[in-house]
Amino acid sequence: MTARPDEPKPSTVAQALRAAAALGVDRLDAQLLLLHALQRSAHDRAWLLAHDNDALPAAAWNAFASLGMRRVAGEPVAYLLGEKEFHGLTLQVDARVLVPRPDTETLVEWALECAADLQAPTVLDLGTGSGAIALALQQARPDARIDAVDASAGALAVAQANAARLGLPVRFSQADWLDGAATDYDLIVSNPPYIAAGDPHLPALAHEPASALVAGADGLDDLRRIVAAAPAHLRAGGWLLLEHGHDQGDAVRALLQACGFERIANRHDLAGIARCSGGVWSGATGKNSPAVK
Ligand code: GLN
Repeated sequence: MTARPDEPKPSTVAQALRAAAALGVDRLDAQLLLLHALQRSAHDRAWLLAHDNDALPAAAWNAFASLGMRRVAGEPVAYLLGEKEFHGLTLQVDARVLVPRPDTETLVEWALECAADLQAPTVLDLGTGSGAIALALQQARPDARIDAVDASAGALAVAQANAARLGLPVRFSQADWLDGAATDYDLIVSNPPYIAAGDPHLPALAHEPASALVAGADGLDDLRRIVAAAPAHLRAGGWLLLEHGHDQGDAVRALLQACGFERIANRHDLAGIARCSGGVWSGATGKNSPAVK
């Protein structure tokens, strides 16, 4: 957002927002970035409206101009602000983790339903990223024993910092999906990578870690591994709940069925799309050998 030499630099709040709009920055994004540049809370949008004609300090304009340029280049607003709201929690995020999506709150709500009648449920979150799911569950269920794993050391550092800041006792560890996990979970939840390697939407997600997004030629590589491994880690009657792509509901249902899960069900995201699927492991076919009939 460099002004041409013959143009005066925007000097008021309103002028700065107009300059951002001219570059194609979404109005809400521009407001959030300007509040950030002014070191004001994201909840202060009313302040911007009331201070339309306030002069903008040079430092704030420079900070806003650089944030605006990064936004135009496709960086998620959450990375620029350094935080994202998820299920009522403010999580710190950066390029080491996927930005938590509101759709994933569907998975949190479903997990809370499944655990509603259990005292001190045991829960495992696979591929925790920023810790969003595990921390939201721990916040809602202080009695739960929640473990969370990720293969990425960078992601775990982000998640652990979020847990410490929020004072939530989730236990984090580095692991490749269920390798080395306990065997007594009431609930296993995951928002794994599920985008196909050649998916045309991937370029729009280029600022986020590919390892959190891409899962083989059909996007199902990680979902397949998790479904196959989960029975050995669930108590009889435990649930496996998975987020997946908008067009993967039938495929994930088939995977769950093939591995012996029962009461298979799904939940819809905010757009009304079947976004999560899950089932119960009855334990009836032998805990460690789901293929044995
Ligand atoms: N829901 C994300 C997206 O489509 C992807 C998340 C994931 O792969 N787990 O932008």
